[in-house]
Amino acid sequence: MGRIAENLASIKQKLGSGVELIVVSKFRSTAEITEVYNCGQRIFAENRVQALLERYEVLPKDIQWHLIGHLQTKKVKFITPFISMIHSVDSLKLLQEIEKQAAKVNRIVPCLLQLFVAKEETKFGLSEDELYELLESGEWKAYKHIQVCGLMAMASNTDDQNLIESEFKRVKNIFDAVKDKYFQSDPKFKELSIGMSSDYPIAIKHGSTMVRIGSAVFS
Ligand SMILES: *Cc1c(COP(=O)(O)O)cnc(C)c1O
Repeated sequence: MGRIAENLASIKQKLGSGVELIVVSKFRSTAEITEVYNCGQRIFAENRVQALLERYEVLPKDIQWHLIGHLQTKKVKFITPFISMIHSVDSLKLLQEIEKQAAKVNRIVPCLLQLFVAKEETKFGLSEDELYELLESGEWKAYKHIQVCGLMAMASNTDDQNLIESEFKRVKNIFDAVKDKYFQSDPKFKELSIGMSSDYPIAIKHGSTMVRIGSAVFS
C-alpha cells in the first residue's frame, strides 16, 4: 500500500461512521489527487475559486467539489453550475448571490454558514451575533435554490488542546441552538463541518459530521 492509501485508511479508521471525510486538495498536484481518487475518495475541497475551476476541468467528473475558503460575490457564478457544497457562507449578501446564480442554472446548492470562533484576527466567518442576525432576517427561507445544511468553523491554530476543545464545544452548542430555533422541521440541517489534520479527533468528540483534511492525507 502506498503512503497516501495508508494515510487514508488510518484517518478513516479514526472517523468511524457518520463522519464524512472531505479531502482538502489545495496546493497538491493532479497526480497526488488522482492517487487519492483511485483509493475511492470522491469528495474533495479547495479554498480558492480559481483552483477549484482548474481542478474541475482536468479531474474526473464524478468528484464532488466543496468550497471551503472565502467566496467573493463576483465569483459565485463560476462555481454554481457544479459545486456540491459551499462551506464558507459568511454574509446574507453572499447567500443572495448564490440564490440568484443557482436559480439561473436551476440547481439547489447546499451551503454551510461559517461561524468565527477562533482567536486569530484573520479568519473569515460570522460572529455568533452576526449568525443570529442573518437567521433572524428570515430572508434565506424564501431561497428556493439554497439548502442551508449546517455550520462550518475553524478552531484557533494552536497547540493548546483545551482552547481547541472549548471552541469546538461552543460551535456545537451554537449548532444545537440554531437547529432547535430555525431548523427543527428540516432534517437537512445536520452538518457540522469542524476538524482539520491537527484537530479532527477533538472535533469528532464534539459532534463533527464532516472533517476537512489535507496535510494528514498527503504527508
Ligand atoms: C487548508 C484547510 C483545511 C485543511 O487543513 P490541513 O491542516 O491541511 O488538514 C481545512 N479547512 C480549511 C478551511 C482550509 O483552508
